[in-house]
Amino acid sequence: MNNNAECVICARDMDAGNDSAEHVIPQAIGGRWVVTGFICRSCNSRAGGSWDAVLTKQLAWLSTIVGVVRERGEAPDVAVTTVEGEQLMLRSDGAYVFRRPTIAETADGNTFNISITGRSVAEVRQHLAGFKRRHPEVDIEAAMATITKTRHYIDNPCQTSLVFGGPEASASLIKTALAAAVNFGLTLDACDVAMTYLRTFDGPLPVDFFFARDLVKARPDDRILHCVSVRADSASGQALAYVDYFGLWRSIVILSRDYTGPAVSKTYAIDPTLGEEVALEVELDLDEMEVASILDGSSGALTDWPSVYARVMPMVLKRAEGRHRERLIEEGVTEAAAAFGLKPGDLIPEEKQEPFARLASRLIAEKVVEMTVALERLRSM
Ligand SMILES: [Zn+2]
Repeated sequence: MNNNAECVICARDMDAGNDSAEHVIPQAIGGRWVVTGFICRSCNSRAGGSWDAVLTKQLAWLSTIVGVVRERGEAPDVAVTTVEGEQLMLRSDGAYVFRRPTIAETADGNTFNISITGRSVAEVRQHLAGFKRRHPEVDIEAAMATITKTRHYIDNPCQTSLVFGGPEASASLIKTALAAAVNFGLTLDACDVAMTYLRTFDGPLPVDFFFARDLVKARPDDRILHCVSVRADSASGQALAYVDYFGLWRSIVILSRDYTGPAVSKTYAIDPTLGEEVALEVELDLDEMEVASILDGSSGALTDWPSVYARVMPMVLKRAEGRHRERLIEEGVTEAAAAFGLKPGDLIPEEKQEPFARLASRLIAEKVVEMTVALERLRSM
């Protein structure tokens, strides 16, 4: 536990009774590292429900498409729309489903016909149960036996817009920077600029995007990362933090401009798709002019955004494609197992192993070809 006597946000006295374990990087985007002796319980839940919730929502599509693993709770579905207006939901497993089920009922004399297009078997069953309440003669099991599962690839691209920032998300970033600073051994007094802002929301915003150059040294090409880095030294008087989510949202937070403590240069990074800490080096070597331009809002950071997007977005899409490929393999194996009458956990008898492998490979190959054709069609649009 850090020895802060008071909550960073509300300044209330803190003790073991109202201390909280706060995630340095929000849990909902895959954060695992916690800080204690930082904020009180009520500020933890308030900040989580407002600041972090806004930031998490802005990152929802990215979190879901790459498959962030959360310590607890499934990622919520994310609404997406194709260029031609088809309304879909992106599920936490990376699959797209219809935004709503469709139900068509027709009556012809005493005969009822109901046709349900659901997003899952359970959903179809639920609608049938509702139908049975009005029509007790309905045989749910017989109807369920007629279900067919289909997949189609959308034939026009999905569109999404990435919106980062605003007062709440900025407060979440500043809180993350402060939490990391405290875990790295800085005192709160040494983070006066960031802390004062978080308490008062007064004065210039001590955070801005930074895309002018990549501060991450030798950024890996094949990993999705979050990182938070702190650098402070008394020679320059600067105490800065760098917060980077998905490699796309890169921000500098000013902790202090009057730092007199010991030199600190530390980084924490995590691959949120695996929940694994990653060794990463960040060179947080902004000069005084660059720092000043953050506080007066003249950094012009966004002109460099397109090149960051062009570098990182292919990694995000590749990861989404890889997840889909894994799902196809699982489906192929499951279908082959069903064809051989095997239940989950069953061992494959030796004499069936070869034909099983042949069938599974053929099913997987067909699915991968179907995916490849769909992707080629989208790419040629
Ligand atoms: Zn508090």
